[in-house]
Amino acid sequence: MKMNGGNKRYALGKVVCLGSSSEGNAYYIEINRKGYPTPFNLLIECGFQYKELTKRLLKNGLSIRKIDAFLVTHEHHDHSLAVPKLVEYGKKVFAPKSVFEHYGILDQVNVNQIITIKPNKKSTTFRLADEIDVVGFELEHKNNDGSMTFNLGYIIKANCDFGLHRILFVTDTYYIRYNLSNIKFNTIFIEANNFARNLIFSIKEAQAKGDKFKEIHFDRVLHSHFLVENTIKTLVGTKKMNGFDLSETDMIYLIHLSASGNVNPYEIKSKVYETLRKKRKLRTIEHKGKIFLSPKVYVFRKNGEIIWKLILSIQALFITWLMKKGKSYLKRDIIKIYKTKLKN
Ligand SMILES: [Zn+2]
Repeated sequence: MKMNGGNKRYALGKVVCLGSSSEGNAYYIEINRKGYPTPFNLLIECGFQYKELTKRLLKNGLSIRKIDAFLVTHEHHDHSLAVPKLVEYGKKVFAPKSVFEHYGILDQVNVNQIITIKPNKKSTTFRLADEIDVVGFELEHKNNDGSMTFNLGYIIKANCDFGLHRILFVTDTYYIRYNLSNIKFNTIFIEANNFARNLIFSIKEAQAKGDKFKEIHFDRVLHSHFLVENTIKTLVGTKKMNGFDLSETDMIYLIHLSASGNVNPYEIKSKVYETLRKKRKLRTIEHKGKIFLSPKVYVFRKNGEIIWKLILSIQALFITWLMKKGKSYLKRDIIKIYKTKLKN
């Protein structure tokens, strides 16, 4: 029985997702810094209209006034829509230069909040707040026209009572160019957009219907977002590639699932757990006399809710098997039945 990382799970307070998909992303994290009586409140991404963002925060008992800093990965609106208003209202927004340029507000921002990577450098490090440093590194993401988007992954290093707490945040990329296998992440946020087979099915369907727009869209997703298969490979590694060091990881949050509705969050969750178990990456930790299985895997729905019922994943696998076997009219009916079941 490994007893690793049990204390570190309390380096973070609340983690609340306000939305997670191409329809809008925002993730609220409380960081308990060393020497501070109250947590540092961080919002990663703000991909909603300002009003909608405040509404979603309020719904979760949170106030935008209490957020100490905002961190944004790239200019796409599902990640950055509230940036202009936040800057206008004097909030501390950290984002790549391209985000502020996109909204024409570069001159209104404090220079230490503008993130750039020097040519020939792999990454940049900046101070988010006292006891919190962030490493930004470039990811592989595309615009609708096929050109590259400047999109950053972040490693947030917070000095907490139990030592350094490392948070990885990666979304909107189809792989990670850099080897991060030597970093012991405590908390991981990583995109798990869709299964390759769903996207390939969607591309073929669009081709058959002669729908060029959809064909290009799904093809872009295929080369611009993390497929579940790649998310898993990145987490646990392959023969050719080292996976992450998960020996101190307590939480894995799977984010930015496809909004198309043809992806089953329960199947994603069970696939990830299954692989972690097979690769012996799960460990037991003890805290206050209770035994926990670690890391825990959480999947966010597009409205920010976490999926809980693990028992449903068996049902989900069965339905997915049926879907693969069934014709598309049958598939639609099954999805309908499944969705109403979930609602109840
Ligand atoms: Zn994007």
